[in-house]
Amino acid sequence: MTSEPVPEPVSEPVAAPASVPPKVTRAQKAAAAKTASVLVEALPYIRRVWGKIVVVKYGGNALAAASEVEGADAQGADGPRAGDGAGSDAAVEALASFAQDVVLMRAVGILPVVVHGGGPQIGELMQRLGKETEFRNGLRVTDADTLDIARMVLVGKVNRDIVSAINVHGPLAVGMSGEDANLITAAPSHADLGFVGNVSVVDPTMLQRLVAEGLIPVVATIGADESGQAYNINADTVAGALAEALEAEKLIFLTDIEGLRVVPDDPTTVIHQASLAVIDEIIRSGGIQGGMMPKVEACVRAVRAGVHRAHILDGRVPHALLLELFTDAGVGTMVMP
Ligand code: ADP
Ligand code: MG
Repeated sequence: MTSEPVPEPVSEPVAAPASVPPKVTRAQKAAAAKTASVLVEALPYIRRVWGKIVVVKYGGNALAAASEVEGADAQGADGPRAGDGAGSDAAVEALASFAQDVVLMRAVGILPVVVHGGGPQIGELMQRLGKETEFRNGLRVTDADTLDIARMVLVGKVNRDIVSAINVHGPLAVGMSGEDANLITAAPSHADLGFVGNVSVVDPTMLQRLVAEGLIPVVATIGADESGQAYNINADTVAGALAEALEAEKLIFLTDIEGLRVVPDDPTTVIHQASLAVIDEIIRSGGIQGGMMPKVEACVRAVRAGVHRAHILDGRVPHALLLELFTDAGVGTMVMP
């Protein structure tokens, strides 16, 4: 038997050639290890939602909240707020961060469908045009002029802003109004509110086609009745109806509060998980007001219809979507059967 010759130990350190990058520092190694562990933590979550539709409703107030909304109380579905809509640097940054999250969702195989509101932005243009807004029980009375303004702002401005923010990352987002391809057939919701609508029928065909093409639909919540008359529909309600029609895995609301509170003005009463029975109790206790009501109703309706989970998250928290979807942390309120 012959043994292999043992190589001579190198006693002198060999000088690295100029092309070798400088040594990785301990801090860099630690950061890389942390990144790896974050990705590993995300893996089971990614597996669970891979290839499934997740409907994300981006609230007009989440958009505006980044630009410091004062007096953020329950103002109803489309209540007017201080602040300057999506114009400020902070709001632009918040939108960019939201867009990044949506693109990342898509990149790991989730099929996002975005639905957006725009109440504060409508209020802002109304004000600029010197048009008085009339509210009844916290709901905007929508005459023909107001409908025109709402449609211009939602379809022509907020929808475009979100589509552009996503498409910075590639040719992904396609903007739609509920009027397109008869996505949403509307019916008047209240006799005395004018062109405020309810969802009467959803035809999700176009959304399904877009999603199947790997695209990200971004939906403005204007619907039309059979005669073609347009209606402004509460975006929470639409998000719930779309999640149901698309048989989505999840429905996620990004709003301007940390979650559902059992007592509306007590932040210590935020509930992190609630079954439909618990939600029912909170509704009956009168603890849900204004703009939270259509969200909770949409969550209940969607979960009842088979959507696996519905979430109400704080859209002001950077990357709230990623935290909810891909980490053990979980943020906001989760509604389950
Ligand atoms: P969005 O633009 O996201 O639809 P809304 O203003 O319509 O925002 O709805 C969120 C608001 O609902 C919160 O800022 C809060 O003031 C109000 N609200 C009413 N009841 C509750 C509750 N029980 N828990 C949390 N928020 C509530
Ligand atoms: Mg609202």
